[in-house]
Amino acid sequence: MGHRGLWSGTVVWDVAVIGGSVTGSAMALELAARGLRVVVLEADHFPREKPCGEGLAPSGAAWLEKHRLLGRLAAEGIHAFPAIAFHHRGRTATGAFPGGGRGVAVRRWVLDRVLAEETVRRGVERVEGAAVTGVSRQDGGWELVAGEQRWQARFVVGADGTHGASQRLLGLRGSRSGHPRFGVRQHFRLARPSADGLVHVHFMDGWDLYVTPLPHNELNVAALLPRSMMAPLGGHLGQGFTRLLTECEPLRGLLAGATPVSTPLAWGPLETAATGCTTDGAVLVGDAAGSADALTGQGMSVALSTAGAAADCVARCLADPAGAEHALRAYAAFRRRRVRDLRRLSHLLLWSVDRPWVLRLVMRALEAQPVVFTRLMAVNDGMAPLRTTVLRSAPRMVWGVAAPR
Ligand SMILES: Cc1cc2nc3c(=O)[nH]c(=O)nc-3n(C[C@H](O)[C@H](O)[C@H](O)COP(=O)(O)OP(=O)(O)OC[C@H]3O[C@@H](n4cnc5c(N)ncnc54)[C@H](O)[C@@H]3O)c2cc1C
Repeated sequence: MGHRGLWSGTVVWDVAVIGGSVTGSAMALELAARGLRVVVLEADHFPREKPCGEGLAPSGAAWLEKHRLLGRLAAEGIHAFPAIAFHHRGRTATGAFPGGGRGVAVRRWVLDRVLAEETVRRGVERVEGAAVTGVSRQDGGWELVAGEQRWQARFVVGADGTHGASQRLLGLRGSRSGHPRFGVRQHFRLARPSADGLVHVHFMDGWDLYVTPLPHNELNVAALLPRSMMAPLGGHLGQGFTRLLTECEPLRGLLAGATPVSTPLAWGPLETAATGCTTDGAVLVGDAAGSADALTGQGMSVALSTAGAAADCVARCLADPAGAEHALRAYAAFRRRRVRDLRRLSHLLLWSVDRPWVLRLVMRALEAQPVVFTRLMAVNDGMAPLRTTVLRSAPRMVWGVAAPR
């Protein structure tokens, strides 16, 4: 429960978190663990579907393990995978996660609900159906408005995703990508189990397809598409998406006899930016702080693995207002370090996807040098810097391209 005082007669929360999906719940758990009184304001009613590829990289899985949530999720169904396979025009390159790590695939329907339930179990107040439309400074704290309701808090965390309101309400909205891509995903129950249990990425001409095995013989199929391909799908998303999937021959085989178990859902634009992730008395976290194209499969893992640093920052600002500026700067620098190379890598990959001859060379190199693939997965998951990885791997890449086969 919040305390009374800053505003006479009203409940004042230490922190109001806008958005109660994977990021908002992770933040609430981290903040509650630091003894703070937290209210989460979520626009939707859970459980609900969120379009996603549903694969967590090892850093995201490690956060769940640390917070003793992996076991609970496993009881409902998760699928662990040790590697990702890229496919392009008959070539296949497989990259294992570094250090024998494992990714985890889990339905968002399940993950988001379990995280939300855990916040309530740990004393967080969760209000659903509360779409925040107003945030204003009052007496050194904040007032938040959703419909007829109002909340007071000493600090605000914006965790409302790529299309939430907090970026704009806090004056941190950034410019949008000039070449937006969109995602569409659907689930299928297979007639027989997927052969190797890996996540498969199929690079098609100008678009890509992510195939993630889930528990109970289910499969998540997510297509990432340029805007020009979204228009023909519009209006008949179901039929258009089914037609699109038949263009991928290996998937056609896998889906033979499969039953759709969800309707296709679209989301986008995928890549967004904020002008910053901090302002006086507030921070942005997860996709609200800016999101990379989903081809990195990192959105959830970035959110989970940066929640601790964001919560440290909030706790420091509240405990020592004189040191708040320093704490906010430290969080902003931490987040920048975590996402900078991931963004560069995603832009490099997107650039290659748009140039099939480059992608052919990249595939040839990765196929011949799986160790390089693994090193790039380490960069993607925030475990290694891009620059030194590329320098260290350049000779292997060149040999991978040039070696006779
Ligand atoms: C097609 C696709 C495939 C993807 N694949 C992967 C993948 O395989 N692995 C991965 O890690 N990531 C993937 N991502 C990215 C991942 O889905 C996001 O990074 C992740 O959902 C971000 O979580 P979030 O909590 O920050 O935002 P969201 O999950 O978008 O949640 C934001 C929440 O805020 C609420 N909200 C919005 N506005 C308000 C408001 N005004 N007031 C209150 N609440 C509000 C919403 O209802 C929502 O519940 C994919 C994304 C797409 C679109």
